Amino acid sequence: MSATLIKGKPIADRIRAEVAEEVAKIGHIGLVTVLVGDDPASEVYIRLKHKAAVEAGIEATDLRLPAETSEAELLATVEELDADPGVDAILVQLPLPKQIDEARIIRALAPAKDVDGFHPFNAGQLYLGRPTLVPATPIGVMAMLAEHRIELDGARAVVIGRSDIVGKPMAHLLLQQNATVTICHSHTRDLERHTLDADVLVAAVGVPAMVSPDMVKTGGVVIDVGINRTDAGIVGDVDPGAVDVAAYLTPVPGGVGPMTIACLLQNAVKCARYRRGELAYPV
Ligand code: NAP
Repeated sequence: MSATLIKGKPIADRIRAEVAEEVAKIGHIGLVTVLVGDDPASEVYIRLKHKAAVEAGIEATDLRLPAETSEAELLATVEELDADPGVDAILVQLPLPKQIDEARIIRALAPAKDVDGFHPFNAGQLYLGRPTLVPATPIGVMAMLAEHRIELDGARAVVIGRSDIVGKPMAHLLLQQNATVTICHSHTRDLERHTLDADVLVAAVGVPAMVSPDMVKTGGVVIDVGINRTDAGIVGDVDPGAVDVAAYLTPVPGGVGPMTIACLLQNAVKCARYRRGELAYPV
């Protein structure tokens, strides 16, 4: 068996074109990104997000603050952006310097402007199975599964990783689609006992090729969220040999990666709709 590769770029390109049409209809969408300090990986992410936003017609403001910014200063900046009627969506790039409590900053965001879907209100709505702003990467994964009409109702889904950004929201979205979901993490015993049972396996770990082909169910669907920089280049969390076992596999690079930014732009449109009352934001 050789798995069908679920490539992200064609789906992401389509989403980005749809976003551009929506932006043109709405007229103006203001996105502000806030980068504190000069972490090189964060700089790259911010640059990519800006390029994509500008291409879609979103007015993106790149706010840069020095690494020594205090928590109080950042809170004041976030509060100003919350109150600014020209700003629809706010993204505070993580990680923040160690003198700043990330959770406190995220709590200060106006929930309806929280384009990353990290605010506890949005996380709570997701937990309750209600419509809300959801982190972009797991939304992207769901779009990839939908594109290939992967049956989720009643399927056994296993998510490896329980981060707030990927693993937990991923598990909730799969649950909303009536999958039977198992979340695995670094304390899970006999990981392969779970993964071998997975009709849909999502790896969001950050350990190169930790899912070996013999951990994959024959004919299963494998989503590799991992982006790991190694001497051999960027590799995923799944050994590419899984292509001989699975029915579907996302490649790395070129799989989930391109979906994240496209879905972030979709979230910016959602924020703009909330602010204009076109979509009801639950309060
Ligand atoms: P994270 O916050 O470091 O979380 C990693 C998770 O993996 C944790 O829950 C951890 O368990 C679990 N884990 C670590 N080692 C394990 C092991 N040996 N067995 C089972 N579980 C293990 O990472 P993240 O932010 O979720 O990101 C995960 C990966 O996805 C990274 O490679 C990241 O670069 C990538 N990523 C990609 C995109 C994209 O756009 N494609 C977006 C975001 C992240 P504990 O909770 O017990 O520590």
